[in-house]
Amino acid sequence: MGTIDAPVAIAPPASPVAPARVNLLDLDREGMEHFFEHELGEKRFRAHQVMKWIYHRHVTDFGGMTDLGKALRGKLEARCEARPPKVMFDKPSTDGTHKWLLGMDAGNAVETVFIPDKGRGTLCVSSQVGCGLNCQFCSTATQGFNRNLTAAEIIGQVFVAARHLGNVPHKDRKLTNVVMMGMGEPLLNFENVVTAMNLMRDDLGFGLASKRVTLSTAGLVPMIDQLASRADVALAVSLHAANDELRTQLVPLNKKYPIAELMAACLRYVRATKIDSITFEYTLMQGVNDQPGHARELAALMRQFCRQAQDNHAAKVNLIPFNPFPGTRFARSDEAAIRGFQKTLLDAGVLTMVRRTRGDDIDAACGQLKGQVVDKTRRQAAFRKTLDGASGAAA
Ligand code: SAH
Repeated sequence: MGTIDAPVAIAPPASPVAPARVNLLDLDREGMEHFFEHELGEKRFRAHQVMKWIYHRHVTDFGGMTDLGKALRGKLEARCEARPPKVMFDKPSTDGTHKWLLGMDAGNAVETVFIPDKGRGTLCVSSQVGCGLNCQFCSTATQGFNRNLTAAEIIGQVFVAARHLGNVPHKDRKLTNVVMMGMGEPLLNFENVVTAMNLMRDDLGFGLASKRVTLSTAGLVPMIDQLASRADVALAVSLHAANDELRTQLVPLNKKYPIAELMAACLRYVRATKIDSITFEYTLMQGVNDQPGHARELAALMRQFCRQAQDNHAAKVNLIPFNPFPGTRFARSDEAAIRGFQKTLLDAGVLTMVRRTRGDDIDAACGQLKGQVVDKTRRQAAFRKTLDGASGAAA
């Protein structure tokens, strides 16, 4: 790491007493319509016009929204804002990857990465500042949990990238996919993530097809069920081990939601949504989970899942060679082990890809994203609260 050269302390907001404006980036179509009708006394289609200005034309200054009447523009200026995160660093990589450090409210910052690849462009988006799940091989875990991002801060990451790329929905667009694989556990920031994913998929928003928006989770079983009832998005599950003993060591959340429960939730997800396959992510760490026995165990688990789903393609495995970060005790598996692991899975009939690292020169790879966590003092208490809240949702 260390490529974001100057970790800056961001000043706290100037005045805590200024009346809060409604940030329109916090509202999806339903929220916008409601706000325009009930708070501003305007017609719904005005909300749609404003959304088009923001998400299609990347205009955030109400004065520039020329098809709105003067009175409405004045009202919007007085009560609202359309405020994306501030770009603090903007870092292109030699391979086309692009990383932004974005300043969020309350002195936090997160990284967002754009990865272009053969006809598609994927943006990796964060959902929290830091993360409380403590997965042993993830650099975000080392900074602990600070807070959930607001919906505006989540969709704002897409906004910044789309504006930079000159992205126009339904045209020759460069940003084609979003993966919620940056910092944080998206299912622990459920409402804000759902609102932001609605905006990613809405024609008045970024207009991405549902299957091009992927939520990646460490495996919060009750929230996977909630997600199925709220958004048909692609689901990626961070598995990393196919037996409970090892998985609990790598992903402590496994203690609460062991593999059998997780796989059952994945099965319910493919049955309840239009999404017909789950991606299982497996970070390969030398000598830890990359041995032939581990591959056979994973193949058996994936085969079982496909049998239950009655679809040979219901499980896809994404092998991620471990990306090192300072202070980690893990190392990347060597090329022979990676190839051997993939071959065992392929020979068993399991669709398996190896995710090649991009943006190496700007530390933009999985698990290398970091942010700026200013106040971590109450992070554990705050995190427990969210986790308990998430479990409660199962009841
Ligand atoms: N909390 C979510 C999303 C964030 S992590 C989740 O757990 O899925 C996004 C992906 O990157 C996960 O599959 C995660 O396990 C993987 N990852 C984390 N650290 C990594 C590292 N150092 N090297 C490779 N992959 C890593």
